[in-house]
Formats: sequence, structure tokens, C-alpha cells
Amino acid sequence: MPGYFDLKLMLISILLSAALCGCISSDEHNAALSQNDSASSSDRIRVAATIAPLADLVRAVGGDRVDVTVVVPPGAEPHTFEPTPSLMVKLSQADLYVMNGAGLEFWMDKLLETNLDLKMLDSSSGIELLQGEGEESDPHIWLSLRNAARQVKNICSGLSDLDPDHREYYAQNRDDYLRRLMELDEEFNRSFAINKSRIFVVDHPSWSYFARDYGLEQIPLMVEEKEPGPRYLSQVIDLARQSNISTIFVEPQFNPKAAEVIAREMSARVIRLDPLASNYLENMSYAGREIANSMASG
Ligand SMILES: [Zn+2]
Repeated sequence: MPGYFDLKLMLISILLSAALCGCISSDEHNAALSQNDSASSSDRIRVAATIAPLADLVRAVGGDRVDVTVVVPPGAEPHTFEPTPSLMVKLSQADLYVMNGAGLEFWMDKLLETNLDLKMLDSSSGIELLQGEGEESDPHIWLSLRNAARQVKNICSGLSDLDPDHREYYAQNRDDYLRRLMELDEEFNRSFAINKSRIFVVDHPSWSYFARDYGLEQIPLMVEEKEPGPRYLSQVIDLARQSNISTIFVEPQFNPKAAEVIAREMSARVIRLDPLASNYLENMSYAGREIANSMASG
């Protein structure tokens, strides 16, 4: 069997390096996957979703009809993540793969090579994409409540196609969740309308779609995943001073060094916002309130 030996070698080296670096998050991830395996006797639909917030949207629509596996483990960084060969094999057991789309899964072709039959759903279908850094589109679509509404509709169509007997159940769950998304969106509309300042500072530019929804401007410290140079940094500091910025938002997946330096310089607070947290609605509600507060207090 061609390639078998290479694959085996690759697996061994991955297992070794995982053992050596004591990679906690991927161990936890494997544990989560095998838990799902033991529940496979039920008639639930096995869904894999790339990131935790997307998995949360799948659970919101699928309810107790789905078992959802998150592909990018907690603490990992999706922009550089690539599934291991063993994860590829695990994913072949899924009934449906829900991708974020918008270029986040740059490794998807490789996954499909080994899983020709895997049923795919692109949750970004119908969403108007913003340009990200360079030529590519910005993949952080889920951080807009309005985009998430579209993603929820797409997920509902995918589950209904796969499991038409429960079509009405999915539609009901979809509508309940869309209502909650809309309520939070309206709350944000109101809170951002009363703020004079429109600017917020982040380490990694994940919030472009969010900023677009409420007419805000996101100023990133990192450009193309690189630490900022001193010149750019001093420009940001000047701009932040002019706008009375009192907060720098950081993501747990990135080194907070640059943010801490600039925060000290301006006596600003550093606040963590995690774009990859599960509990999507709670997390978005927290993020939106913190962003609004950072402007109101300026
Ligand atoms: Zn990101």
C-alpha cells in the first residue's frame, strides 16, 4: 500500500512530539473525540465543526439530535492549525462537517483527499465577505451577530437535508436562536449609538465584521500576524491618546507583550476577549459590552 509507511512514521513522530511537549490541549481534544465515539450507538448525527463558537451554533440548531466535535482544540490558533493524520481519520466518522468558510480552513483540500465521502457544509455561504490582510478575505465572520444569523440558517438547512424527519424541530430551534441573536444585535445598536468615539484597539484584527455592523473602527496592533514595529506602535499610541482610548483588547491565543507595552505607555487597561470561546451568545454579549464601555469611559 503506497504511502502507508510514511503515514505510520508521521503518526509516530506526532505521538512522540505530543508526548514530549506535553501538549495538554490536544490530549484533551483526543479525550473529547473518544467520548463521542462511545456515544455512537445512539442515532444522533455526528457533526464536526472547525471552531468552538461554530460548534455552539450547530448545538443551538441541532439540540439533542447532534453530537458535535470541535476540530481546532481550545488554546490552539486556527490561522496556523492543521489537522493531524489521526484527526483526519477520526473526522471520517462524522456524518457532516460544518466549516466556517471564508478561508479559515486553508487545509480543507487535504482533509477531503483522505475523506472523499465527507459531507460538507460551508456556513459562510451567502455572507458578504470583507477583505482581510493581503489578498485574502477576512475569515472572522462569526464575530458579527448578523453573519451568525446567516450561519444558523445555513446549518439548519444542512441538518434538515441530512435528517428530514426532524425538519420542524430544527426550524423551531433556528427561529428561537435567531430571535436571541436579534435581541442582542438591537442592544448593541442602542449602546453604540450613544457613544461619541468609534475607535477600539485590539491586538489581532478579528473584529472587522463586528466593527462594520455598528459603524466602528478597529485599530489592530498586529499586522499580518506580526508584532508591530516601533513606528507603527507610536502612531497607534498617538491615535489612541487623541481618542481617549482607555482599553486595549487582547486575544488569549496571542502573545500580549505589545499590548502590555502600549497599555503601560497610555495607562490603559488590558482586557481579554476570546473570539474562539464557546457559549457564543454570552461571549458576544460580554465582548460587545466591554467594547462599548471602552468607548463610553473615554
Ligand atoms: Zn483570528
